[in-house]
Amino acid sequence: MRVDVVTLFPEMIAHALQFSIMARVRDAGAAVFGVHNPRDWTTDRHRIVDDAPYGGGAGMVLKPEPLVACIEDVVRVPDAAVVLMTPQGETLTQAHVRRLARLGQMVVLCGHYEGIDERVRELLVADEISIGDYVLTGGELPALVLIDAVVRLLPGVLGNDTSAEEDSFEDGLLEHPHYTRPPEFRGLRVPEELIEGDHAAVARWRRKSSLLRTLRRRPDLLARADLSATDRELLAEIAAEAVEE
Ligand code: SAH
Repeated sequence: MRVDVVTLFPEMIAHALQFSIMARVRDAGAAVFGVHNPRDWTTDRHRIVDDAPYGGGAGMVLKPEPLVACIEDVVRVPDAAVVLMTPQGETLTQAHVRRLARLGQMVVLCGHYEGIDERVRELLVADEISIGDYVLTGGELPALVLIDAVVRLLPGVLGNDTSAEEDSFEDGLLEHPHYTRPPEFRGLRVPEELIEGDHAAVARWRRKSSLLRTLRRRPDLLARADLSATDRELLAEIAAEAVEE
């Protein structure tokens, strides 16, 4: 996959891509990253990328010409999606992430100041994504959130191909809790089922914990989840235990 970011602050993106899984992604060749500054597509002497809003008011708006020229140059393949980071977009979910991870290219557009000229959105933008109902100063942090979520699904990135499938949200449930050594820490013991290591018992404990967590914290997810007959039995057990308590 190609991942290109269009931003007035390329260092913010380039720096963050140097670490941890992002570095592994690049080294393993699972994704190729490009970072592009629309300023390099300006044609005037002062390389101006923003201007005052029509109709007046505070703040600056990113001009359409350099942005459009930049995006048009950066798009390489027919199955590319131009994604605008904006608080007015759809709130990012794992479903968006899964869909984007199947594309040949994602071009992520970061706004700044008041945002971008509306015509850029009309002409080129396929997806508008928000990372939550709050307003940031620029699209760079949201772009990094999106890119991190997408590239970790690419084949070979997590090492163990099953670990992404078990994550929270992948099957509509929150994931079970995790433990590592020691078996007892400050009086808190690791659940016996996990220590004994019987595969079936471990799987059952994990699934039940996952259902319990989702029930307690995100009943909205549980209501929509695709549950098996075993899941229903485990939920009945959970309900019976709650009555006993
Ligand atoms: N005036 C705009 C907000 C501009 S914030 C409005 O009211 O809609 C400046 C830039 O930060 C935006 O162009 C966008 O790229 C980014 N941004 C801010 N908050 C965001 C969020 N919650 N999700 C995604 N991008 C965001």
